[in-house]
Amino acid sequence: MLLVPVLEEPTDVIIKTTSAALCGSELHRYRGHSKVNMQPGYVCGHEGIGIVHEVGSSVTKYVKGDHVIVPFLSSWLSLSKTEMHYPAGFELTSNRYNGAKRAFEHTPRDQWKGMSIAVICCGPVALCSIISAREYKPARIFAIDSISNRLEAAKRLGCIPLNFKEVDVVAEIKKATDGNGVHAVIEGVGLSPALETAFDIVCPGGKISSFGVHNADLPFSAADCYNRDVHIQFGRCPIRVVFEDALATLIHNKDLVEKMNFIDLVLPGLDESFEDALKRFERGELNKVVFKPNGPETRLD
Ligand SMILES: [Zn+2]
Repeated sequence: MLLVPVLEEPTDVIIKTTSAALCGSELHRYRGHSKVNMQPGYVCGHEGIGIVHEVGSSVTKYVKGDHVIVPFLSSWLSLSKTEMHYPAGFELTSNRYNGAKRAFEHTPRDQWKGMSIAVICCGPVALCSIISAREYKPARIFAIDSISNRLEAAKRLGCIPLNFKEVDVVAEIKKATDGNGVHAVIEGVGLSPALETAFDIVCPGGKISSFGVHNADLPFSAADCYNRDVHIQFGRCPIRVVFEDALATLIHNKDLVEKMNFIDLVLPGLDESFEDALKRFERGELNKVVFKPNGPETRLD
């Protein structure tokens, strides 16, 4: 049974979702790796765009009919839980940018020009993180994945593609960096082997920014971190804090974003076609599945 949301608090907003995207993080739940795994009735698509349908009495920022982007997190700034009532920002515009932002902070922008970085995962949002990373003009970006079309996309963005099923990624990166490793790693897989690779390829004093959704223990010890002098940042994106910067970066790189052609399947909503899409997504045959449960993004009255 589908739940029809109602306004519960004066700060609530009900949004009619026009598009929601299947997220890579949902594969953890599909595969049973998460604390909360998929059960019958589980609703996929926690990032979306939509139209404001109803607003609570104390909401001043939005009015009925506004087109909005709904992030995966409820906000802790000017909104309370208003943006989580329906499957929720388009990850393409936000989350993975934060991976890049965190990896590069505290080092002057100019300094990145001679440096090397690596991005582990080349899914749509990781590609956005590569687009953001390019803004810092690092000397080299290594892109690590095992799916050829993703690696090709990363290559089109100027990255050096490395297929971890075909080459020894750690050896290749060490060879290319005179044995040092890279200055920053952005890890977006959310599995321990990816994190282990991140640790193995980061140079002493380097940074790892991990935005993958992790469900297991760290594959390295505190002593390992101490000895490597490594800076590690975990966690999900404080989306509203970085959103405007992230969106501006992607608009600035609109031609690249369009060239990436992220979306390869659009479905009408939650019917049986979804199950097949999820299976294909799980096998890496699809990059981004978008649901349009309420039709095209037209203004509703
Ligand atoms: Zn997500």
